[in-house]
Amino acid sequence: MPETPSPLLDHIKRRIALSGPISIADFMNEALAHPEYGYYRKQDPFGRAGDFITAPEVSQMFGELIGLWAAVSWQQMGCPPKIDLIELGPGRGTLMADALRAVRNVPGFGDALTVRFVETSPVLRTHQQTAIMASGIPATWHEAFDDIPVRADVPAIIIGNEFFDALPIRQFERGDHGWAERLVGVDADSGELGFVRGRETPVTDALIPATLRGSAKKGDIFESCAPAIAIADQVARRLNETHGAALFIDYGHPSSAFGDTLQALKGHEYHPVLRDPGDADLTAHVDFAAIARAMNEAGARTGAVLTQGTFLRMLGIEQRAELLKTGADEQQAVAIDQALARLVDADQMGTLFKVLIGYGRETTPPPCVSGVAG
Ligand code: SAH
Repeated sequence: MPETPSPLLDHIKRRIALSGPISIADFMNEALAHPEYGYYRKQDPFGRAGDFITAPEVSQMFGELIGLWAAVSWQQMGCPPKIDLIELGPGRGTLMADALRAVRNVPGFGDALTVRFVETSPVLRTHQQTAIMASGIPATWHEAFDDIPVRADVPAIIIGNEFFDALPIRQFERGDHGWAERLVGVDADSGELGFVRGRETPVTDALIPATLRGSAKKGDIFESCAPAIAIADQVARRLNETHGAALFIDYGHPSSAFGDTLQALKGHEYHPVLRDPGDADLTAHVDFAAIARAMNEAGARTGAVLTQGTFLRMLGIEQRAELLKTGADEQQAVAIDQALARLVDADQMGTLFKVLIGYGRETTPPPCVSGVAG
């Protein structure tokens, strides 16, 4: 079958030909965020027909329970008359739509709310607008988290599902003497993209956390996500300033570890990561320890990292499923049970996905916080 020409692949190869191998972060930036051909810029990648399915698209219960979490957080803040509900990377807006519907009956919460979306994709912004239209809650859109103005006496409740995993990572590989960055180059023979090793330098060594450096063996890979750390820092400052709370859900590990977790998904299947930039989703596991550390260093507190299964059970997902089933026919009841299993079971999303809750140093701890740090 003849290959369809890919303008983005050509552009990346030209860039490498001109200036040498690029970092994996640069490659991910091109593949996901190129203004014309980037994966998140040109299409709607979610749902059964898309390349992957996220928890809010699996079941309405996910967004409903997060809405409840936000409403109880607000109550524990003393029901302030105004609140900014900020979502990072809202996708189709399904989570927010379900959350807003679920909290309709919480007295005063709807009137206090302004929704603020952080979204770079124009296509997804229109989906989000449509999704929350029925709620009647005012919303604004922003390119970056720090563009959202701080309002005096208005706490920020910040949520994000599968946001950090889409941010560009760099990879470092342990060699004979030290660490070298893994880069993307062009193979001289085949003309295809391939991984190459950069030079081992003391500067690269310094990027590896001291706690891990000692135990490293040749071939170990360490991943770092500078944009995630920068956003965690901004979020933490906002939590302290506004006495707010934050909830992040993503797949990843609770402590920093070695491993190559970069992956591509296309049509619900794993795909070679360098093969189709712009046409496959690219993600990496989130290092929750690094995010929590950044938040703590900025003065905010964090709860112990929970699994998604534990978190959703704490919020009563099983009872919610039973309630939904009371009005359902048999086929719908089976679908509800399947969705429940998908979200909480250990062999599905229940264990791989983790939950990190952060809050300002003067905020009353929000629901589901245990084992506080910071
Ligand atoms: N939360 C949604 C979508 C997750 S996919 C869900 O669970 O279904 C990642 C989302 O982050 C998409 O909406 C994508 O457009 C957005 N995104 C990716 N990189 C971003 C960035 N740098 N800034 C803001 N949004 C970004």
